[in-house]
Formats: sequence, C-alpha cells, structure tokens
Amino acid sequence: MTLKTTVTPTARLIEVFSAIQGEGLNVGTRQIFIRFALCDLRCHFCDSAHTWNAPATCRIEQTPGLRDFKIYSNPVSLPMLLEWVERQNLPCLHDTITLTGGEPLLHTPFLVEFLPQVRSVTNLPVYLETGGHRPDLLNSILPLIDSVGMDFKMPSTSGENRWREHAEFLQLCWTSQVEVFVKIIVSQTTNPTELERSAQLVASVNPSIPVFLQSVTPLDDPSAFKQLPVVAPSPSQVLNWQALMKRFLKCVRVVPQTHKMLNQL
Ligand code: SF4
Repeated sequence: MTLKTTVTPTARLIEVFSAIQGEGLNVGTRQIFIRFALCDLRCHFCDSAHTWNAPATCRIEQTPGLRDFKIYSNPVSLPMLLEWVERQNLPCLHDTITLTGGEPLLHTPFLVEFLPQVRSVTNLPVYLETGGHRPDLLNSILPLIDSVGMDFKMPSTSGENRWREHAEFLQLCWTSQVEVFVKIIVSQTTNPTELERSAQLVASVNPSIPVFLQSVTPLDDPSAFKQLPVVAPSPSQVLNWQALMKRFLKCVRVVPQTHKMLNQL
C-alpha cells in the first residue's frame, strides 16, 4: 500500500501591508504588498538588504495603511497568509496584490498553490516585482499572474551581470502576453553603453515594452555594503540616457522612487 503524504506549503515572509506603489507602470495605485524573504542577488544599491536572509519572524499589518503590525513566526502557512491578505482586502480599496522581496520567485512552489487561491478570494490582479534573472522559476507561475515589473541589472550600477537571463525572462513574459515593463536603476556610475545594450535587448523582444529609468535613492547606511556611496545621476545624465534609449524604444520614462517621497514603506 502506498501512503499519500501532503506537505502544507509555507513561505518565509518579511511583511504584509497596504501602501501606495512608488515605482514603475503602476505608480500611485494602492496595493497589498506581500514582501517575501530571500534574494540570490547582491545589488550595490539594494534598499532591501534585510530581505536577503530569512528572519525568524515577519510583521503583518492588521488594518490597511495603519501600520499596526503584529509579529508572527516564520515560516507562515498558506491559510495564514490567505487570511492576512483577505483582511487587507476592504471593498474598493486596492488595485493589485504585489509580490515583492527579496526575490519572490524563490518561493515558486508556494506561489503555485497560493496564487490561485488568493486570486479567487480577493478577485484582485497579481503583480510580480522581480530581479528578472530566474526565467526557470518564472515559467511555472506565469499563468497565475497578471503583470510583471522586471529589473535589468546594469553591471556598472548593480555589480550584477545577468544579460542572458534578462533576455530569456523578458521574452517569456512577452510571449505569454502578461503585461510587462522593465525597470533600470541608474546612478552616476551607470555606463551608457550598457543602457544602449538594454534598449536593443528590449527592442529585440518588442519596442513597445515600457522602460523606466529609476534614479537611485541614496542609501541611509552605505557603509553596510562596503561599496563607494551610490550617487544619483545628474540632470544632464538622465536627459542624455533617455534620448539614447528612445532611439530604439517607444516608451522610456525617468521616474524616482515616489514612495520614498510620500513616506510609504
Ligand atoms: S534583486 Fe532586489 S532585493 Fe535582491 S539584491 Fe537586488 S535590489 Fe536587493
């Protein structure tokens, strides 16, 4: 006789909260954020380094937008997360559920089970924020998400070099007809040759895919990263880079992290 065993899926979280999206195509919209722990990249400009490892606890907002967090142990079960998201989902308040991190795709086995259920109970679209470097993991959840904001990591800015993975990832999104845009963090050290290469890469998939050049936000504690301080680009740099990329692409926007200006999370 074969015994069937069922393993309840769990996830390691940083936090769940309701806030205004500050980046990319959906800037200004109200979203339920699920911030997952763990990331396998180490970008120089990372403002979420606390997500790189899985903490023993996570914090869960009890009332949308009130920051009345309660602490829970990690990992969390699927029914618990479902209940927390349902509690956030007051009528007519949110536009989207956002999966962010860290790198949410490192929780793909959990997401495969969680996403159909959370879509069914909330009726909200699901938006994935990702480093855009794990096409192998993206494949299994693509039918379960509605939009993707993927990063292109410039080696001169981030220290990461993921051209091949980014190309495959973007092509997968485009082929599956999920809404997709590309975000590129730029600083004073960004190499324009890399931006031109990015524009050509995006255009080779489709020139109508929107690209956001996002001026880096200086870190509160750059010493923690043992790097030179990351400095925002000058006004002339962003003007020149936008012009450079618009030779290949229809939509290149330059936008800072607006949630930082609005004191969102
Ligand atoms: S991918 Fe995101 S979370 Fe990971 S190191 Fe880069 S900026 Fe930080």
